[in-house]
Amino acid sequence: MLSATGASKGIGIGKVLIIKEQDLSFEAKTIENIEEEIKRYKNAVEAFCKNTEEAAEKLKESASEKEAEILMGHILMVKDPYMNGEIERLINLNQCAESAVDTVCDMFITIFSSTDDELTKQRATDVADVRTSLMCLLLGIEEINIANVPKGTVIVAKDLTPSMTAGIKKENVEGIITETGGKTSHSAILARALEIPAVLSLENACEILSDGEQVIVDGAEGIVINSPEESQLSEYTQKREKYLKEKEELKKYIGKETLTKDGIKVELVGNIGKPDDANNVVDCDGEGVGLFRTEFLFMDRDKAPTEEEQFDAYKKVALIMKEKPVIIRTLDIGGDKDIPYMHLEKEENPFLGFRAVRYCLRNRELYHTQLKALLRASAFGNIKIMVPLVTCLNELTEVKEMISQIKSELDNENISYNKNIEVGVMIETPAASLIADLLAKEADFFSIGTNDLTGYTMCVDRGNKNVSYLYSPFEPAVLRSIEHIIKCAKAENTPVGMCGEAAADPMLIPLLISFGLDEYSVTPSSVLETRKNISNWSKAEADKIAQTVMSLKTKEEIIEHLSTII
Ligand code: PEP
Ligand code: MG
Repeated sequence: MLSATGASKGIGIGKVLIIKEQDLSFEAKTIENIEEEIKRYKNAVEAFCKNTEEAAEKLKESASEKEAEILMGHILMVKDPYMNGEIERLINLNQCAESAVDTVCDMFITIFSSTDDELTKQRATDVADVRTSLMCLLLGIEEINIANVPKGTVIVAKDLTPSMTAGIKKENVEGIITETGGKTSHSAILARALEIPAVLSLENACEILSDGEQVIVDGAEGIVINSPEESQLSEYTQKREKYLKEKEELKKYIGKETLTKDGIKVELVGNIGKPDDANNVVDCDGEGVGLFRTEFLFMDRDKAPTEEEQFDAYKKVALIMKEKPVIIRTLDIGGDKDIPYMHLEKEENPFLGFRAVRYCLRNRELYHTQLKALLRASAFGNIKIMVPLVTCLNELTEVKEMISQIKSELDNENISYNKNIEVGVMIETPAASLIADLLAKEADFFSIGTNDLTGYTMCVDRGNKNVSYLYSPFEPAVLRSIEHIIKCAKAENTPVGMCGEAAADPMLIPLLISFGLDEYSVTPSSVLETRKNISNWSKAEADKIAQTVMSLKTKEEIIEHLSTII
């Protein structure tokens, strides 16, 4: 049994097909006819864009618009003036196109992969994907495409790139195993969109497994069993049936309200990163958007989006969601999430540094643009503004002052907006938790960001393996903080939600019901499951569980107790 990262739920049983990497070696020639070489490079770029657009169209059908967008992002990358300029500069220095593409892509890959930020790291994979396609075109090699694998295949590859998967027939693919990639990598996103079980980051998978070998992929547990015994096969066949049955059962929650067993209504909304993701929320039956991480609008470009661009993006989400609530978080950038054009200084402790609202309040022009775009878009739906990483009251006061100033500007310009737009706070720092009583008097709503709250409360850098055992929302310190925040919100009648990953944790749900959480914001694909999990408990049952849990002293005791009931 092999264990790695479970990235897309479900159980697949099938035959291994190893996708071998192409040989992209070339002879680095000195070029005499520079003009011709540049033309050769440009032809390759043109062909790349054409192929990629076609592949994106196919992906739109088999997965969704969101996945197709990943590919369209590759076109933007290839057309990037800096990247193009560098490649042409090297060709002008008599390097052949292959050598220039290879050198420049390598440079970007090194820069992107040297950060700790998952998203920036992911861009290294994108560049590698683009490089492979360009090199194939320049070398006249046919690119790998797994569109036509036979039924019952488990795809095993070093990495699965969006260009490889375009046109994939999901009914033929039982599972995906790759050597690289984490839960947020493109391979993971694709696998989830296609509902194919996937285990990623399995070291040396292409060597350990052999073509034609039977294999079981458990995408929830991150387990791969090669050449399984009869007993394992029957165990996992049963598991697969159970999983598929449960998935089918979840369908009965479509279109229903989110209610506890005794009929207490709560809100169940989705987290998104890009405007188009709002379609996902609608498809998954979310009741609104609980967190739109706007930093994605600022990435993959060489200057900040204009007011108009942002207005279009926010308006799009508002319109997709119709009158449903849309909580848009203002820019949470800085620290380890570097954006080159923002010229952030390298910091010793990025998580304790110049990020989110701290950065925005010191870069007023940038923030003004975002807030104005948000206010203008508020005329088109139920938009609410959320401020990240608040640690003191002044930050909220300052943001609110900026908002009222922008409202006056809009009045003078005769531009409509929602005069009663709500301004809420993310509670994701111990400081915000400790002054939750004060913040609750000033904020229109709270949303608990358990991803950061857990890290900051436990003083744990998530990327540090040596201390990751402390990173859990079930630590008594984190649970007490959550209970306290909700209590403070209730005392002021301030609606309180949760948008960190913990909101979808089935073991946490009875505690959240007992504490009185009003809104759960989860990954769209978890909406139905969360609705079901909420319906499993009455308030009285949840209170009983919470009473015991909150009297326990350690995370281990708490998890043990909860796992006996859930
Ligand atoms: C959080 O911190 O819980 C959160 C939702 O924000 P992010 O994961 O974007 O930091
Ligand atoms: Mg956060």
